[in-house]
Amino acid sequence: MDTQHIRKIIHIDMDAFYASVERRDNPNLLGKPLVVAGTGPRSVVCTASYEARQFGVHSAMAVTTAKRLCPDAIYVPPDFPRYRAVSVQIHTIFARYTSLIEPLSLDEAFLDVTDYAGPLIYAQDIAQHIRASILSETGLTASAGIAPNKFLAKIASDWRKPNGQFVIAPQQVLRFLHHLPVGKIPGVGKVTERKMQDLGWHTVGDLARIERPILVHHFGRWGHRLYDLARGRDERAVQAQRQRQQISQEITLIHDENLAQICLRLPELAERLVVLMQRKRMMGSCVTLKLKTSNFHTLTRSQTFSHPLTEVSALLQAADSLITRMPQTAAEYRLIGLGISHLQAEHNQLDLWSTDSCQP
Ligand SMILES: [Mg+2]
Repeated sequence: MDTQHIRKIIHIDMDAFYASVERRDNPNLLGKPLVVAGTGPRSVVCTASYEARQFGVHSAMAVTTAKRLCPDAIYVPPDFPRYRAVSVQIHTIFARYTSLIEPLSLDEAFLDVTDYAGPLIYAQDIAQHIRASILSETGLTASAGIAPNKFLAKIASDWRKPNGQFVIAPQQVLRFLHHLPVGKIPGVGKVTERKMQDLGWHTVGDLARIERPILVHHFGRWGHRLYDLARGRDERAVQAQRQRQQISQEITLIHDENLAQICLRLPELAERLVVLMQRKRMMGSCVTLKLKTSNFHTLTRSQTFSHPLTEVSALLQAADSLITRMPQTAAEYRLIGLGISHLQAEHNQLDLWSTDSCQP
């Protein structure tokens, strides 16, 4: 193998992040099952502490279900400004080791440390130092995965959780994947996992024996990616924040709605998105429509245009055409979102015409 081209990727993931921040700041919560969740009737769990997880509570679960499983847990609403402040802190720690940082959320990021030129020799030592700094500077624990690519680093960070780290060295990749259950592949949810099991594919090793056209037959374009992942290949670069930004708006529905009802929501969503784009002085050329089904399955459809979209009418047209690409079933949805990515700053010329000075 040509070692010149082997990357060193670290995936850092804070442990039960929101719950850990709450607990750090309120010692009364220590040792008790804790669930951070919204307070609305249809809210979902943001984070469950490890004690609450033992009752089967997990993130994205409906709060009503969580309360049935673990009625004695303490439920607190999320405090995003406080979580964001910690997120900024951990990013300043990351930046001591690399400038190639790709945040996935407030508490998770990929770091490419291939070009690190400091005194530490191994990527696992860098991960160790980062986790120690996070603990001493924020009082919180993090787990880390160290691997030659993003796909494997993400799996590895889960391996010794909480407060642990795991290395998958290049020469160990195939052996590691051989027994890995297919459900551990990021993006393989319960439904896909069942489908694969029905096909007799239980481990990534099973998957690696399947020819590309068969994977494509069963999983569409994603089959190509599965083919590579099963072989431990993932060429995606770690992308610094600016390149992967998305501006989006969502509506969580009070009652589940069908596709026809969802269509009526699009004008409001498009309008809100344009307001947000104008406030951020950004425009983008890739539109994404997201629907979440009543059983929390997320569907997304995207379209990239050759020019940035700035008008409500153009966004609405894009959203309308994306909705026709959703499965036309009787499914009901609980959330709808519209986002724009491939962002660029508004042209200066547009700045001259910004409405800021016209506002009362
Ligand atoms: Mg986390």
